[in-house]
Amino acid sequence: MVPLDDAIAHVLAHCQPLLPGPVPASHALGRVLADAVVSAEAVPSFANTAMDGYAVRAADTAGAPVTLPVVGEVAAGHPADRALGPGEAMRIFTGAPVPDGADAVVMVERTERLDDGRVVRIDTTVEPGNHLRAAGEDLKVGETVFGAGDEITPARLGVLASLGIAEVVAHPRPRVGVFSTGDELVTGPGPLRPGQIRDSNRPTLLALVAQAGFEPVDLGWVPDDEDAIAGAIDRGAGSCDAVLSSGGVSMGDIDLVRVVLDRIGDMRWMQVAIRPAKPLAFGLVMSAAGTAMPVFGLPGNPVSSMVSFALFARPGLRRIAGHPDERLHLPRLPAVAGEPLTRRPDGRIHFVRVAAAVDPADGALVVRSSGGQGSHQLGAMARADGLAVLPDGDGVAAGEPVAVMLLAEPARVVGASMGDAAPRLDR
Ligand code: AMP
Ligand code: MG
Repeated sequence: MVPLDDAIAHVLAHCQPLLPGPVPASHALGRVLADAVVSAEAVPSFANTAMDGYAVRAADTAGAPVTLPVVGEVAAGHPADRALGPGEAMRIFTGAPVPDGADAVVMVERTERLDDGRVVRIDTTVEPGNHLRAAGEDLKVGETVFGAGDEITPARLGVLASLGIAEVVAHPRPRVGVFSTGDELVTGPGPLRPGQIRDSNRPTLLALVAQAGFEPVDLGWVPDDEDAIAGAIDRGAGSCDAVLSSGGVSMGDIDLVRVVLDRIGDMRWMQVAIRPAKPLAFGLVMSAAGTAMPVFGLPGNPVSSMVSFALFARPGLRRIAGHPDERLHLPRLPAVAGEPLTRRPDGRIHFVRVAAAVDPADGALVVRSSGGQGSHQLGAMARADGLAVLPDGDGVAAGEPVAVMLLAEPARVVGASMGDAAPRLDR
């Protein structure tokens, strides 16, 4: 058996980032930057007010309450047409440029408009800079805003927009083909003939690809036939950056994916020291573009194919998408076993499907088995929030620490408001 880390290292060594190019910001969500973004402008570009109120010279409020003449009004998008003189005030609204001569804003709640609006009484003393947002307070001219390897998120798109940047240099989103193999498989509703099962891996893998931010390409189903499998890989090589197959990689005679990959590509077949998802075929085949295209031969058992995707395919595909090495894998978080998670020593790391919730008493992440742990039991996978990582041994007792790879939102929180430090849980 191959240690997990060695199998991962082998896969990653053969997954190279796609060549970057210019991308309109409007199409960049989820892509990974290949070049740094440097701001050519300050944000905000001018000093403005964070509050509704009155622009003043702070020194003029020293003897508060003081009464000052109101000499104008400035709103967002409408700068003052003259400077503020000593002993004067200007009405000002949030986001408006601070008039020349003013160095502070008094919030409107600390003022009273008098004498038909001609004067304002200021009831508080303010310091210079009060409620002002200085130019460049968010971003400075020449600042490196994002680096190569940063993923474009919604907030980062907002920053690009605030800088007037309409195009970035980023890696393409990988196109990932998915096909399933197996004479026993049928798709969709309708009665099953004896021995038939429904193809659940293809929709699952296509969805995992999409959820990870890549472009899924459905390459269909193929029977257990060498030419059909070679044909599906060929179709993938014509239009995809990587291909995932399910089934046909275990020890049996009809495990044809690895036979085909062996014939048409540079293949390594591994028995990885993990449970589930022990068999993995990983190969490179020549793509239409003349580059080596990775093919992940994932196991057929539904839970195994998902775990294999999480441990091998997703990190490899993220590498192809340009993510840096330190951000390829699902994070492993410290958790506590809410019940015994037992296992037998067998030289393998076990990944146990668990439901996770936050303990309201101390904020710890508590995990419990989400059901039957067979590699065919997709039900427990569907109920799982994560995979508890059990190193070789006897497992962990209730209350003991255990690492968990989160696959979904960790906790079912009931009746908690966003402001609650310790939400109540239904578990
Ligand atoms: P294999 O890796 O082809 O030996 O398949 C292992 C097990 O997974 C067998 O029980 C298959 O019937 C099952 N299996 C294979 N492919 C799929 C699929 N696409 N959907 C659901 N089950 C599958
Ligand atoms: Mg099969």
